[in-house]
Amino acid sequence: MDTLYITHPDCGLHNMGSWHPESPDRIDAIHDQLVASGVLDFLVQAIPDPVSDEHILRVHTPEHLNHIKNNAPVEGTYSIDADTIMTTHTLAAARVAAGAGVLAVDRLMQGSHKTAFCSVRPPGHHAEPDAAMGFCFFNNIAIAAAYALEVYDLKRVAIIDFDVHHGNGTERAFANDPRVMMCSFYQHPLYPDRHVENPGANMVNVPVPAGTRGSDLSQIVTNQWMPKLSQFQPQMIFISAGFDAHREDEISQLRMVEDDYAWITSQLVDLAEQTANGRIVSMLEGGYSLSALGRSVLAHIRALSKL
Ligand SMILES: [Zn+2]
Repeated sequence: MDTLYITHPDCGLHNMGSWHPESPDRIDAIHDQLVASGVLDFLVQAIPDPVSDEHILRVHTPEHLNHIKNNAPVEGTYSIDADTIMTTHTLAAARVAAGAGVLAVDRLMQGSHKTAFCSVRPPGHHAEPDAAMGFCFFNNIAIAAAYALEVYDLKRVAIIDFDVHHGNGTERAFANDPRVMMCSFYQHPLYPDRHVENPGANMVNVPVPAGTRGSDLSQIVTNQWMPKLSQFQPQMIFISAGFDAHREDEISQLRMVEDDYAWITSQLVDLAEQTANGRIVSMLEGGYSLSALGRSVLAHIRALSKL
């Protein structure tokens, strides 16, 4: 069954400056690899609607939503922190980025597709229920998971986060929520340095030191994630798909390569087929080396769709 490829032109309009690594070029680099490889021909493309406030408020506080809406600039920029900057296009981009996850959940629950990759930005996993930070405004993956839980009445969903940074926002959104199991690894110490020792029994978030290679990360997946995920029996799997742990990505010092992303993805595809009718919603998070990003997403999508 074809994989859905969800993206929106507004994701390319949010531009925080030519110096900023979280750039519109990221979406283009992914698209280029999909075209050059011929894989795009095997994907079904879809365009999301902007999410309404109702969807955002399943995860975020009204104060946070109002802060973002009230400060969305009509001209110029509004800085939330030194590198999380709202432009005139940011709110629209953030709404369609989150909308991609909602659309993916709908399509997968309707059964037309098993897997979806959302090539969207701004990313989301650092956005906490009450705060934007770390290039993130709304927590896209958390909004999608909360939608699946509440509207489709799922009882158990898994969120996998293989971005190099700690998904602090997602962790805060779902810590101790028995309907969610979150599994991640992340470089530590590294931004956002909000590591907590005991975040909740449903959190399998494993800090690793700089220099960790893909083979060591595979051991974490095999020994720490998969036994707990198999026991949990998720009905849908969400992936915060960041590709900044790649060895070519200069934002971090982990040493993953494309094959590592393909392998982790195939493990999750196998699990999804056993427990979740194959359903996986993957959403782009980080990944700042444009070449490595494009190649890694290609490997990820090939594994998602078994191409
Ligand atoms: Zn990251």
